[in-house]
Formats: sequence, C-alpha cells, structure tokens
Amino acid sequence: MFSDHLEAGKEDETVMLPTINHHLLENDEKNFYMYVYRNFENVESRPWTGGKYGFVRTMRRTADGVICTKFHEGIDIKPIKRDRHGNPLDEVKAIAAGKVVYMNPISHHSNYGKYLVLEHRWQGGPVYSLYAHLSGFNVREGQKVAIGQSIGKLGYTGSGLNRDRAHLHLELAVKFSTRFTTWHDKYFSDANHHGNYNGMNLAGLDIASFLIAKHKNQSLTIPQFVSTIPVHYKVTIPRKQIKNGAPELAKRYPWILKTPYQRNTPSLEISFSDSGFPISMSPSDKTVAAPTLTWVEPCSSKHEYHTKGFVTGSGNRASLSRRGQRFIELICGQF
Ligand SMILES: [Zn+2]
Repeated sequence: MFSDHLEAGKEDETVMLPTINHHLLENDEKNFYMYVYRNFENVESRPWTGGKYGFVRTMRRTADGVICTKFHEGIDIKPIKRDRHGNPLDEVKAIAAGKVVYMNPISHHSNYGKYLVLEHRWQGGPVYSLYAHLSGFNVREGQKVAIGQSIGKLGYTGSGLNRDRAHLHLELAVKFSTRFTTWHDKYFSDANHHGNYNGMNLAGLDIASFLIAKHKNQSLTIPQFVSTIPVHYKVTIPRKQIKNGAPELAKRYPWILKTPYQRNTPSLEISFSDSGFPISMSPSDKTVAAPTLTWVEPCSSKHEYHTKGFVTGSGNRASLSRRGQRFIELICGQF
C-alpha cells in the first residue's frame, strides 16, 4: 500500500517552468498570469491577480476589509504564442522528471478539462504536478518523461473558459489518500472519474513561490519549503479515529511528523495552512471525543472566508464545519 513511499527519492528534483512564458522569474507577474473576469459591486474588471495561487477570487466586503474568499490551488499561466485566429500554440512541458500517472482525455469530466498528472519520486515522498485545460496530449499514461519534455499543448478545455482566457493551470501537490473513491462515494452522488487524481485528493502548494525559490536554489526540498508555510489552524484527532492509529499521509511523507511517532498518546494534532495543506503532525496528550479544532488564526470576519469553509464560526467561537469534518476523515482514513 505504501510502496510509493518505499520507491521515493530516485528522481532528480530540478524544476523548470512548463511553457516559454518565463515572466514569473523576471518579476513581471502581469505578463505571466492570465486574468479572470470579475464583477464586484457592479464594477467589471479583468485582474491578473486572479491567476495567482491563493485566496485570489470571489471578493467580499467583510469586517477584515475587502477580501477574496475563494481559493485558487494552482497558477494560471498566460500563453505567449497564438495563431492568427487567436488559438494558443504554446507547448506544455514537464516541470521535472517523472511519470505520467493519470490522464483525463474527456473534457467535460472535470472542471480542469483535459488534464494530466505527473508523479515525481522525490526524497521526501511523491509529489504530483498537474497540468489542466490542455488542448491535447503528447504522452501516454504510464510513460516516463524527462524534465522539459513536451507533454501536451496549452488550451482552454474545461468549464468557464474561452479562447481569450486560454491558459495552463499548473499545480504541485501531495496526495491525501490512496482510497479516495471510497470516501468520495460516501459523500457525493456524482461519479469520480479520476481515481486518486481527483483535484480534491491533492493538496496544492504555493507553486509560484516554489518555482522562484528553486530557480535561486535547486537544492531546496519540499520539507524545507513546507516548513515556511504559515499555520492557520490546528485540529486534534483522537487516536482511535485514525485508521491503523497512524495517518497514511505520515507514512508517505515522513517529514510531516515533527516528533517520533508515539502510539501511547491519546491524540494527534495536525497543523494546516489556510488552504488545508497539512504542514505538520505531532502526538498530543489532549483527550478529545472527536476531531476538534484546537487553534485558529484570529480574524474579525467569519472563519469560513479564510479556510475554504473548513472552519465555521467567528472569533473564539470556532469549530470544524461539516465540510471540515469530512476533510479530516479523508486524512484519517476512517471511512
Ligand atoms: Zn487555474
């Protein structure tokens, strides 16, 4: 079951940008990111900031000021070359050496449109790069690819896209569960066409910051990068509600455990970023009856705006939402 961890650490961890658009590394974000259409309080705009990673979409006026409440788990890279009809021509290349582990050739099966996922067997455990809205593929599932190898062409497949907004949506992620479909089918009535490579089963990192940091220092590792992510909330989970007493995630990514695993503590505390990226896990002496929110970054508005809806309430009256509870269940493997 954890063979992906045992075989990790074989591939070169050098990374590069996936298209000829290199404006990110030239500090020219405006020409790197594809804009989104926005209508906020009846003012229409096309902000390029909507293409960045993070809380960059769905503006709201709140007690914390005007904030974006919708999380964008990857980056939207603008095409550089188009033909005379406006069709994008940029090749999409592998950001690192890896293997094609998933391809979705049926556009309407996902908001990502036609997408593919590469697995990179790095020292800290497998990481996944995801390339979405492609117009077509140049590789097959199971194929090994070299860094910079062409894997497809930039397009505008997927919902809500048009030719003007054609872009490559790129993510770099860790995988939550190897039994995702079982969890999915418990809570959703629609079909999961993508097995473990459904976007909900992948926790995306701030890939723009990662690519910039790696450009300066290719020896930077995922565990080092993750240690710089701010903690936004913590959840304490009773040991008996974790399948086999230890989350699958901790076996696949051993760096997540801050202290050696002790089976005799009554619970485990997981620290998350605002997007729900699992930053670290520590054994805890707290006794809780169910997964419990034990800390959250203070804010003046509703916690749901800052946590993808996983935390509900405001001020000190905060707790895991139903959605947050399901998310914890996916991580704990108890379903
Ligand atoms: Zn996107």
